Amino acid sequence: MKPAKFKYLYPSTIEETLECAFDHGEDVRFLAGGQSLVPMMNFRVATPEVLVDLNGIRELQKILIDDTGNIHIGAMTRTRTLETDNSIGTANPLLAEATKHIAHVQIRNRGTIGGSLAHADPAAELPGIILACDAEIYLQSPTRSRSVAAKDFFQGVFVTDIAQKELLIKVVIPAWPVERFWAFLEVARREGDFALVGVASWFDVDKSGRISDARVVAIGVSDRPVRLKGAEAQLSDQLPNSETFERASKAANSGITPTHDIHASAEYRREVSEVLVRRTLNEAWKRG
Ligand code: FAD
Repeated sequence: MKPAKFKYLYPSTIEETLECAFDHGEDVRFLAGGQSLVPMMNFRVATPEVLVDLNGIRELQKILIDDTGNIHIGAMTRTRTLETDNSIGTANPLLAEATKHIAHVQIRNRGTIGGSLAHADPAAELPGIILACDAEIYLQSPTRSRSVAAKDFFQGVFVTDIAQKELLIKVVIPAWPVERFWAFLEVARREGDFALVGVASWFDVDKSGRISDARVVAIGVSDRPVRLKGAEAQLSDQLPNSETFERASKAANSGITPTHDIHASAEYRREVSEVLVRRTLNEAWKRG
């Protein structure tokens, strides 16, 4: 399979990239790891006239943990780096753990956090983690800079808040308390496949021993990553124990209509969501 003809540009700075995008017509696409875009071009599902390669832009590859513990991750950070970089593993272990479930090492060596978020596959791990961590996504276009909260960024299957010619610059994940309880689990047909369902859970416990804050996020069940607010409500101000986790699991699907497709029925996804909510919460507590 061969892509349709396109013009190829290789800028080395963000400014140059935005100029390239500005100078060309509507049909400009950014190339990150190419793990989703190149197959789409080969199948001619995507036929950009101009391809702007982001691989030469060093500014987009930076990782910084600031004085408050917030993690700034450049859009061109490879998923393999998220998995193996010790500073990320310490600063946000949930992110490092979930990244291991993305495809295979060869794909993680090329695929980037920016590409995964911009592509917005509803079963992808990173969008779910970014939502679970209340992250902020920074965007820049030839005419403006802005940031969008993860909860507003994902808008449907392969649809995000990114406008035409807008470049995803970085993601900022708020500081992660060391004493936080967390787990990520997913069910896929084979190791390395996209998840049929995945769940990321975390909770904090206050001095009285009760859950003070919690997130339960599912991937693969809807047209975008979703917070399972029914489950979160069952955790709020409760003692962390198996009875609480069971109640949260039973509430996992409230307000959610799981997807039905060729990979799995809605009933199957509902059942797996419940099981994964219970297991992630128990695993989080046991690990803590
Ligand atoms: P690209 O393919 O280069 O780009 C994807 C899209 O994002 C394009 O539209 C591009 O224009 C846009 N884009 C990229 N960067 C930017 C930017 N900075 N600003 C604006 N737009 C941008 N993913 C998972 O999450 N879980 C899996 O289990 C999984 N399994 C896979 C299995 C296979 C066999 C393959 C081939 C891929 C799999 N993937 C999986 C997808 C993989 O993670 C991709 O790397 C990812 O979805 C896209 O990242 P990329 O860097 O390759 O982006």
